[in-house]
Amino acid sequence: MSTLATAFYREQEFVDVLYIVAFSLFIYGLMGLTGPRTAVRGNRIAAVGMAIAVGATFLLPGMGNNWGLIILGLVIGTAVGIPSARQVKMTAIPQMVALFNGVGGGAVALIAWAEFIESSGFDGYELTFVIPSLFAAIVGSISFWGSLVAFGKLQEILPGHPIGLKGIGQQVLNGGLLVVAVGCAIAIAAGGTSDILMIALLLSAAILGLFVVLPIGGADMPVVISLLNAFTGLSAAATGLALENTALIVAGMIVGASGTILTRLMAEAMNRSIPSIIAGGFGGGGAVAGAAGAGEHAGTVRSTSAADAAIQMAYASQVVIVPGYGMAVAQAQHAVREMASELEKRGVEVKYAIHPVAGRMPGHMNVLLAEADVPYDQLKEMDEINPEFSRTDVALVIGANDVTNPAAHTNPDSPIYGMPILNVNEASSVIVLKRSMNPGFAGIENELYFEPMTSMLFGDAKGSVSEITQELAAL
Ligand code: NDP
Repeated sequence: MSTLATAFYREQEFVDVLYIVAFSLFIYGLMGLTGPRTAVRGNRIAAVGMAIAVGATFLLPGMGNNWGLIILGLVIGTAVGIPSARQVKMTAIPQMVALFNGVGGGAVALIAWAEFIESSGFDGYELTFVIPSLFAAIVGSISFWGSLVAFGKLQEILPGHPIGLKGIGQQVLNGGLLVVAVGCAIAIAAGGTSDILMIALLLSAAILGLFVVLPIGGADMPVVISLLNAFTGLSAAATGLALENTALIVAGMIVGASGTILTRLMAEAMNRSIPSIIAGGFGGGGAVAGAAGAGEHAGTVRSTSAADAAIQMAYASQVVIVPGYGMAVAQAQHAVREMASELEKRGVEVKYAIHPVAGRMPGHMNVLLAEADVPYDQLKEMDEINPEFSRTDVALVIGANDVTNPAAHTNPDSPIYGMPILNVNEASSVIVLKRSMNPGFAGIENELYFEPMTSMLFGDAKGSVSEITQELAAL
């Protein structure tokens, strides 16, 4: 073997070793993400892994031809990525994830397109290169455009309610687009070199991405983002296979597998099947079947004051705090922690009931409460806390709505029928902190507010909680 070839293989081996270090850090970091105490450290470890993977890729033989462009790309990506990730509000993380995920899918589709242009078609290439490249082009393009729609809906640039044809018409159209995309892919794999084939493939996949996500309501959007995330992972892994880049294969498969598992868990928590989510039509705050608008209910609502709420809780033996999206909007987590400490000083046992889809992303409540140093063992998952509501004196619902709505058990016409909820209506007394009688994310009225044991404390959650704390301290 010539000296040059030996150097080439040594360099390749060195890169492979660095990649193995990078994967190990990805997996170790991911393990840290399973709990709030270790999550930040886990994230940092995985980021170091990614830095090593990127650095190792620069060392690949033949990488040195386009340093100017590579550095320009890195500078632009860093200049956009770091400030936007630092400034994003906690409540806007889902759309940020959608955008970052979409960019990944778009990058993968562009790589496939660039390879096609560079080699003037895939004629004469091994199928082990051609098939993954075309798969990545289709799935990456679907993921990019679908993620843009998900971003637009969550950012309220697009209407949150389902848009587009309903039912079978939409499905036939989507099926037709998929047939066009796959047909173009087959023509390219069979030796077609026309640019029009590749453009038609990318375009039909792009329209398919738009058409799949537009009819899905805002309430299902996190599940969709997680599904698109899985798609991006799979398309990145396919690109890795085509380019024989193990870092891309492993990272793509981790994203694909974790996205798939998360999608399933979220769909289960909302009692929705993934096909029914893709079929669309649920949620988003628009008119939904079985929904009653605010004020249409025949019952009466009892309002209360911070002083009354404080007295009720001060003499309770157990208070369960039920946080939701409104607590996140009001940034009330620190005030809640102070109120809980005041209650604990009086010997009241305080627990937090965490619904898996409370807020706007999985783990939203855990992250906020951990930030306010709420002891982790006081956070109770839904299955653990539900049997406790019947022996709870006061359930204090702070900006949570849909996740407490008994219609999920009682009203088969409700769009959330069948969704597992926190059974707060079993507590002796329920105090709800919100600003108005407006509905939550699913756009439906909450029967809980009209129950005899419920009283409403209207106002911004942070202000109301602080007032309760002052009243407690003054008792
Ligand atoms: P909801 O969206 O059902 O309700 C939030 C409530 O907070 C509203 O009724 C609102 O009432 C109140 N609120 C808003 N701002 C404030 C404020 N500053 N102070 C006090 N109250 C406030 O939230 P939940 O957490 O109960 O349910 C989450 C919903 O989001 C579910 O439908 C779920 O399916 C969906 N979802 C969840 C995702 C996840 O992964 N966690 C992802 C996507 C959707 P008012 O305006 O009167 O104050």
